[in-house]
Amino acid sequence: MTTEQAAAWGATGEHSPLMNNYGSPPRLFVRGAGAELWDRDGNRHLDFLCGLAVTSLGHSDPDVAAAVATQASTLIHTSNLFANEHQAPVAERISELIGCGSGQVLFQNSGAEANEAAIKLARRYQRRGRHVVVSALRSFHGRTLATLAATGQPEKHEPFQPLPEGFRHVVWNDLDELENGLGPEVGAILLEPVQGEGGVNPAADEYLVGVRRICDERGILLIMDEVQTGFARTGDWFGFQHAGIEPDIVSMAKGVANGVPVGAIWARDDVAAVFEPGDHGSTFAGQALALAGARATLDRYVEMDAPTVVRDREAVIRDRLGSLDGIDHVRGRGLLLGIELTDDARAGRTAAQIARSCLDRGLILNGITPTALRIAPPFIITDAQIDEAVATIAAVLAETPETR
Ligand SMILES: *Cc1c(COP(=O)(O)O)cnc(C)c1O
Repeated sequence: MTTEQAAAWGATGEHSPLMNNYGSPPRLFVRGAGAELWDRDGNRHLDFLCGLAVTSLGHSDPDVAAAVATQASTLIHTSNLFANEHQAPVAERISELIGCGSGQVLFQNSGAEANEAAIKLARRYQRRGRHVVVSALRSFHGRTLATLAATGQPEKHEPFQPLPEGFRHVVWNDLDELENGLGPEVGAILLEPVQGEGGVNPAADEYLVGVRRICDERGILLIMDEVQTGFARTGDWFGFQHAGIEPDIVSMAKGVANGVPVGAIWARDDVAAVFEPGDHGSTFAGQALALAGARATLDRYVEMDAPTVVRDREAVIRDRLGSLDGIDHVRGRGLLLGIELTDDARAGRTAAQIARSCLDRGLILNGITPTALRIAPPFIITDAQIDEAVATIAAVLAETPETR
């Protein structure tokens, strides 16, 4: 750890007090408002990543801030030995937005925990010996041991072997491959409607319709991982709604509370019913402070009709990107988009290096594959901010080795 690296964390000595798990962060932000962030030197940045598809209402949203502040000075935490006033309203709202008939919610603290709970619920529901969860290659489901095992990226597994057993991966978006991978031991299929971390790869609607049919034929539970796609990010309340299907279990987290850590699973009633007191639990999950943030966030999404806003913003972004040279195609849905760059435009640079150059010009996005950028801007992004971001990308793509 160099002095410079320690300083990147805001540390005073040469020895970083933080594990090197995240490398050396390129910025230290101290304040955010709407789509903008300021670092400790006062430099303004335009945030087209939203803390990884989390702060959909923008930073420091006044309603969410007020709800959290009021709750903090009223009652933060009592544990799940007791109820609090936000749990039922937030659960009812989630069920309503999922729109798949009668179901129930269990709160968690993060996406990985939500998927972990979904996997445990599926195992509890299916008879013993029917515990295998099938997920897709290039998927991402979290970093706990079980959700890492479900994640379809073998290179991420290697340092942590042996992983929990009962996970299997199939080629993404290929129904025949999926069906060939199924046997009587398979109890659940776990899929993202748009693979986020895997490169912004949307599932074909027909694929999800086919998966639903296969699950029905074989008594397999369909779990949709909506951790990144949920709460209007894709232009529908949930990503699976584009395909018109109804999953049995849904996991969610990132967009639930505009940055306050909240995760949850929803399951249809008869599946939800298999969890009995003592089966699962969490000290913090569903606490009053976190759910005050969720409640205010979900109210705002509904008030603004978030899916309509997202579709409108998506159209403007696609239009502006369409006028840019150096883009092979734009993929994804709503405000979760992958921008595939041409080889010419990259000119030997990786997408991560291009994202870094954008950061140096005050635009936050990330490289999601070696050749594609990911953007996930807040729903409140303005036309002028979109123009600014596209101009920055254009300027970076136009850089030559001499001007870099
Ligand atoms: C981010 C993500 C997760 C993991 O969520 P954490 O809150 O980081 O644990 C799981 N699934 C998907 C699809 C994600 O995008």
